[in-house]
Amino acid sequence: MAEKWVYFFGGGKAQGSAKMKELLGGKGANLAEMTNLGIPVPPGFTIATKVCEVYYKSGGKWPKGLAEEVDRNTAQLERAMGAKLGDTKKPLLVSVRSGAAVSMPGMMNTVLNLGLNDDVIDGIIEKTNNPRFAYDIYRRFIDMFGGVVMGCDHEYFEKVINAAKKKAKVSLDNELSAEQLKEVVEKYKAVYKRHVGRLFPQDGRVQLTHAINAVIRSWMGDRAVTYRRLNNITGLLGTAVNVQAMVFGNMGPDCGTGVCFTRNPSTGKKEFYGEFLMNAQGEDVVAGIRTPIELKKLSKVMPKAYKQLTSLMSKLERHYKDMQDMEFTIQEKILYILQTRTGKRTIFAAIKMAVDMAREKLITQKEAVMRIDTEQFPQLFASIFDAKDIDNVEKEGQLLTKGLNASPGAACGIIVLNAKEAERLATKKMQAILVRIETSPEDIGGMDAAVGILTARGGMTSHAAVVARGMGTPCVAGANDIHINYSKSQFTVTGRTFKAGDWIAIDGFTGKVYGTKIETKPSEIIQVLDGKMARSKSKLFQNYQQVLVWADKFRTLGVQTNADTPGDAKRARDFGAEGIGLCRTEHMFFKGERIWPVRQMILAAGDYTRMLNEIDAAQTKKDKKAIEKKYGAVRKQFEGALKKLLPYQRGDFEGIFKAMAGLPVTIRLLDPPLHEFLPQDRWTQTETARWLGVKPAVVKAMVEQLHEFNPMLGHRGCRLAVTYPAIYRMQARAIIEAALNVKRAGKIVLPEIMIPLVGAVSELKHVKDQIVDEINTVFKERKAKIKYLIGTMIEVPRAALTADEIAAEAQFFSFGTNDLTQMTMGFSRDDAGSFLGEYVSKGIYSADPFSKLDQTGVGKLVEMGTKLGRKTRPNLKVGICGEHGGDPDSIDFCHRVGMDYVSCSPFRVPIARLAAAQAAVANG
Ligand code: ADP
Ligand code: MG
Ligand code: MG
Repeated sequence: MAEKWVYFFGGGKAQGSAKMKELLGGKGANLAEMTNLGIPVPPGFTIATKVCEVYYKSGGKWPKGLAEEVDRNTAQLERAMGAKLGDTKKPLLVSVRSGAAVSMPGMMNTVLNLGLNDDVIDGIIEKTNNPRFAYDIYRRFIDMFGGVVMGCDHEYFEKVINAAKKKAKVSLDNELSAEQLKEVVEKYKAVYKRHVGRLFPQDGRVQLTHAINAVIRSWMGDRAVTYRRLNNITGLLGTAVNVQAMVFGNMGPDCGTGVCFTRNPSTGKKEFYGEFLMNAQGEDVVAGIRTPIELKKLSKVMPKAYKQLTSLMSKLERHYKDMQDMEFTIQEKILYILQTRTGKRTIFAAIKMAVDMAREKLITQKEAVMRIDTEQFPQLFASIFDAKDIDNVEKEGQLLTKGLNASPGAACGIIVLNAKEAERLATKKMQAILVRIETSPEDIGGMDAAVGILTARGGMTSHAAVVARGMGTPCVAGANDIHINYSKSQFTVTGRTFKAGDWIAIDGFTGKVYGTKIETKPSEIIQVLDGKMARSKSKLFQNYQQVLVWADKFRTLGVQTNADTPGDAKRARDFGAEGIGLCRTEHMFFKGERIWPVRQMILAAGDYTRMLNEIDAAQTKKDKKAIEKKYGAVRKQFEGALKKLLPYQRGDFEGIFKAMAGLPVTIRLLDPPLHEFLPQDRWTQTETARWLGVKPAVVKAMVEQLHEFNPMLGHRGCRLAVTYPAIYRMQARAIIEAALNVKRAGKIVLPEIMIPLVGAVSELKHVKDQIVDEINTVFKERKAKIKYLIGTMIEVPRAALTADEIAAEAQFFSFGTNDLTQMTMGFSRDDAGSFLGEYVSKGIYSADPFSKLDQTGVGKLVEMGTKLGRKTRPNLKVGICGEHGGDPDSIDFCHRVGMDYVSCSPFRVPIARLAAAQAAVANG
């Protein structure tokens, strides 16, 4: 049988349905579904998305049979409407609309009023007795056809109509008289002929064919391609083309058009929400030519149509079981629905609607959990402006402009036009908003120091936008109205001048920029968690909590956190963390004064180890004594440093154990290359020398001696413990002593010691034996014991490959996927930034493997490591502590691999809980 390309809808019956989105696009599938539901939808037909696919594959040709099907369906539509394309008495007019499987609002083309020509116009005037209307739709059609189909710049048409309005001394399009519009039509045709080079086509069939091609071509238009890239939309066949009988909202005062939502898309409130315009057509509502009217007012203007509309809204929401975003048109009091789709919403609305709909039993709790977008979720925690303040400020005319809402959150500060200055102000505890034409990598320090970032250029993936989102700093990007003059240290916007030091405020949720000071406050959720707001006062918090309670019910994956301080631990616990999956000890080495004994220790470590080795090899007691004497100073320096560090570390661990009482705390022993601690510049070298009582040149020489070409693959992780065993011993002692102390204070402590960078079981055993020996010594000294685990990170590929052997010595595995990615892919984490972007934009890799786990490659090692490890030790506890532990897609992978838990930064804990639940539900 020949392939079917076209699907008809009309007269209460459609060949398609909502299930056929892939093939009919979202718009077409829902037009079919609504038709079948008996909703008043103007009839028409949908040309399937696979036509678009064939069109591009064949270099712009229609597939065989399509032309005949279009003819047949046009004839059917003509019969259904009792009208004919090009007929002067009963003309059929149609819209030709785009619509892909995934909604891409406004990104592709639509042509309205197709079928008009000079003769048809006369017929319409005769029939409607409304020449104003006839010329209005004709001039719109010539404009759209010329612009969208023939590529003639819309500006040329704009010029004509603006001139006409000026001449008529009116400000709105719909104030032009029939006579004036008739003149506009004539001029439009002239513009068309001048720029297209041909007369405006009069044949409806010719118009239709051109329009269908134009809609198909808009699939590859710049706007659409960019939109798909920014939203990671891939794997679609193309756009469908919907040819649909026109209805008119611009025929007179009993006509109108609008958009409506079954619930409020920004707050989630259950109310009919939307906007409309009387006597208007299609895009007028969104185009901002006239200010639309609140939907509720329609109940006054046209009570019957309003009642019918709201009842259809309820019906559609019940049918689709989700908030619907709809388009409607009223022609001479009769209501038509032109589109319905599941509406986009803010995270605040999403949370409220999910909870409400589950309580209304419209959806299940599982569906409610699946409804929340994990990408949007972090916006819940960003700081905010008070809605009342915003109202006031806008009334005072302080809204300067609107850019892209590039990174959520509200920020207020003084204007700073260069990054260095932002850093300087931050040291003085002053809040600065960094305002740049665009940002570049050397601005990082200032971006970090600023409370908000505002750029005049750049889109949602500009440097400023990406970096700001990563930092969690509010950002408005691409505010084109702002003109920056760096040399004058000022910018102008809509006629006002702002100087460095003036106050501004930006709202990263809306993209709005204000020319005045506005107080910010933490998100409601943070306020409640910090005890600054009562739970009962915050509906948002209650709904947030409800969603996560449901999520916890469905997820099987544990969620722990990466935290190095009691403060972070507490924050994470408030967010629902079930333990610490990664506590990095090196951060403790940097705190305050500690860096000096750390440096002291490192600089003596080499000689100290040499001493131990020589003592081991010594034949006689006398030799031993001599060696000890020779290294006397080194010993004092090294052991003295460790003695200073031990109480610091013990204190840190006590704090963390207390904050996490009753939950496991996984502590990673020292991991980074030692050079990270060393004094690299002249000043710190001199200071270190003073501290040690040696000459700066001595320190400089030692630093040079410890230099490595590839520190990340160098002397780090457990390799440090092979050469300098005393360091891990000190850390193990600090952990166990702290655990015993906190236990004695009546708290439950569950320490887990994690050895990093292991590549072989023999290596793990070597290091572990020393640690166990030290722990046993502590137990003996203290005459007390405590249960603990020793496990390892799996981050060297060899460890994953030999995980069965390693599991014999490890009680748990934690996949360190940052290093594992680096070593598996051979990308240096510190250098790959300069070229990885190209890999992603050119589609060589689908995403940055450091932020999304490379499931096919690195993931294979993770899966293999988990399986092999459990073969040896069936109850092996397995988790992940790399950056990926907070990424929803990677979490889904961890769930499928059968891990016990993921660990992520405190602020990502709630996201991980949600993502883990979604993974559990999605994977059945
Ligand atoms: P988009 O995807 O950009 O919303 P649409 O195809 O939905 O494009 O159409 C643009 C506008 O034209 C919408 O306001 C829509 O309601 C209106 N429109 C489309 N088809 C018709 C029609 N057959 N009759 C009246 N208005 C229409
Ligand atoms: Mg639409
Ligand atoms: Mg690592």
